[in-house]
Amino acid sequence: MIKKIINAVIITIILVVLGSFIWNNTMISSPYFFNKGKTLYNSGMYDGSIKFFERSLQTNPNNTAARYFLTLALTKGTPTYSHQEALYNMANSKTHDMAQSYAKSQIIPLKESLIGEMDDNYIYSAVQNKDILRWNIESFPLKVYFEQTKPSYRENIKKAFEQWGKASGFLQFKEVYKPEECDIEIKFTPYSGPKCESANCNYAVATTTNTTDKYHRLNRMIITFYNSNPFGEEFSNSEIYNTALHEIGHALGISGHSNNPNDVMYAGSHRVSSVFSPYSKDIFYLSKRDLNTMTLLYRLAPSITNSKGWFYENLYYPPLILGNDEEILKKKLDEYQKYIDKYPNYSGGYINIATVYSSMGNNKKAQYALDKASEFATNDNEKYLINYNRAVMYYNNQDFESALNCAKDALKIKNDETTNTLIRDIEEMISSANQ
Ligand SMILES: [Zn+2]
Repeated sequence: MIKKIINAVIITIILVVLGSFIWNNTMISSPYFFNKGKTLYNSGMYDGSIKFFERSLQTNPNNTAARYFLTLALTKGTPTYSHQEALYNMANSKTHDMAQSYAKSQIIPLKESLIGEMDDNYIYSAVQNKDILRWNIESFPLKVYFEQTKPSYRENIKKAFEQWGKASGFLQFKEVYKPEECDIEIKFTPYSGPKCESANCNYAVATTTNTTDKYHRLNRMIITFYNSNPFGEEFSNSEIYNTALHEIGHALGISGHSNNPNDVMYAGSHRVSSVFSPYSKDIFYLSKRDLNTMTLLYRLAPSITNSKGWFYENLYYPPLILGNDEEILKKKLDEYQKYIDKYPNYSGGYINIATVYSSMGNNKKAQYALDKASEFATNDNEKYLINYNRAVMYYNNQDFESALNCAKDALKIKNDETTNTLIRDIEEMISSANQ
């Protein structure tokens, strides 16, 4: 008797579940959602209509009218992140219909309206390969820690932070006195760049590196200044100030360089010879293009940032603004090649171009670029990056033994979480291959 009741109950529940399953998946519900969407659309409630057109398409993806009205509603509604993404996907969809061609025609006008007055920019140089790397605005003010140094160096670097804050209108900084609390760390080290044979050679004043954790979360930006130039002389105030302005741009997320000499983020700005002399009184000012690029970078949804929960509907969908991965990588390749042509004996250019070749799947060229990088490497930071990147490339090629050797070389230079994680991953692959 009891058994029977149980059976009955079970059957009833299954029937109910099946019933609603059928309802959700029949074409009958497609016209229903479409008509609901259409009513909202006709009364000008474009945002409200979108989800009904989408639900109509979920139940019947071939509903041509729903695709078309969805596209119309997306272009007339609020350009939120989700709506930008949906329009971009419609424009790139495999179904070639009216909806797709209309979406395609609307991508550029939408992009232009989002970029607005920021159209003069070098945003392709700002992105790091395919990634949008930047701080989360919600975590502002960014905390800055200074290592002990000469008061004049410190003062000029602080002034450079102030210029970014004032000129941008949205960047904020705050000094902290414990290194473990900071987002941006300012360090000082003895000169270790290329040697200068003549009086007017190029030399670096500072470099910026970032650290990310194993979840690809941005931990910290480190700006390292040399204490003096290759001749052992102190840097002038303008050298420190101008360099700081440029390096802070990197620390905020602009990973590459502008190719316009009027911008602070110009590739040559932190080299002495071409732009300013060590004793020049000239002080740099952020250009309109520098500020446009930074503002636009902070409107794009980041793929690497310092906190979780970064998603906001008012952000820009990166592929809409920048194009797809392939288009971005082509632009990056161009940019880094120009940098190498200009500074053929700086390791950094070759390290960067290697990462692009690797992302493009061209391991041969990536390895060749790393060989060049290694030829010109002068400091530990460069040597670390070369070994680390080599290890990742061998790993991707499934040459785990070579990967392990390079990763161990990297570990000798920097024993941190990122490198240890890589070594653990490689060892895991080796032991599973031997089983
Ligand atoms: Zn730079």
